[in-house]
Amino acid sequence: MAELLDMISADIRYIDGLKACMNCGVCTAICPAAEFYNYDPRDVCNTLMSKDEVAIAELLKTDKIWHCGQCLSCKTRCPRGNVPGLLISLLREVSIRMGYFTESEEGRRQYAIKKTLGEHIVDSGYCVHVMHVKPHLHPEQGPVWEWYFKNSEEVADRQGGNYNKEGSGALRKISEESLKDLRKIFEVTGGKDFFEQIDRQSKKKASELKKNITDNVDDNEYFYHVYREKNETQE
Ligand code: SF4
Ligand code: SF4
Repeated sequence: MAELLDMISADIRYIDGLKACMNCGVCTAICPAAEFYNYDPRDVCNTLMSKDEVAIAELLKTDKIWHCGQCLSCKTRCPRGNVPGLLISLLREVSIRMGYFTESEEGRRQYAIKKTLGEHIVDSGYCVHVMHVKPHLHPEQGPVWEWYFKNSEEVADRQGGNYNKEGSGALRKISEESLKDLRKIFEVTGGKDFFEQIDRQSKKKASELKKNITDNVDDNEYFYHVYREKNETQE
């Protein structure tokens, strides 16, 4: 477990983000996420300041660390110059590295984010492209979206786009050379390892929950489970 505190205290986000918290609660008062969720950045600082490894490990297994929107309003208001938003970014990373993220509902959703936004950017160069916004995964887009999705190439080109074609313009195909560079960046910065860790831990969780997990999203039971369903939460 000392590994956990070592990992946290060596990180620049901890060194720069938590100098001395006096528990005033100003960060919580300004935090938009605290308004809507069971989330309290002051309390997160408190847990970290305690250096209680058991309490920190428990925090990493809860939904709490996934509610922050990374707006950094807390940075502008803290009288001690702390940055709870940076600490949350670090805690999310540690939760994934330690495999704790699969213990909470919001944490498990990291798998869905990796299978969609994460893989989209590595495969196509776009984290969100019209072709990725499949109507059955995005009912919030409404009935018109299904029509737009089917006709997106024609509509985009009529609006001056260059849908999935070589050259310049909106929605253009990203060149193989750029994709090669992008994948290299993912590899050397640790993004690829990070994605593999999300996959490994999610497979373990899927097996515990007796859910089928496959590379293909469309017949991946665990993907739909974490993407849509309310499952057993820690809170
Ligand atoms: S505003 Fe700063 S000092 Fe006050 S509780 Fe938040 S982190 Fe601590
Ligand atoms: S960065 Fe996160 S913790 Fe800070 S104010 Fe924004 S939502 Fe709240």
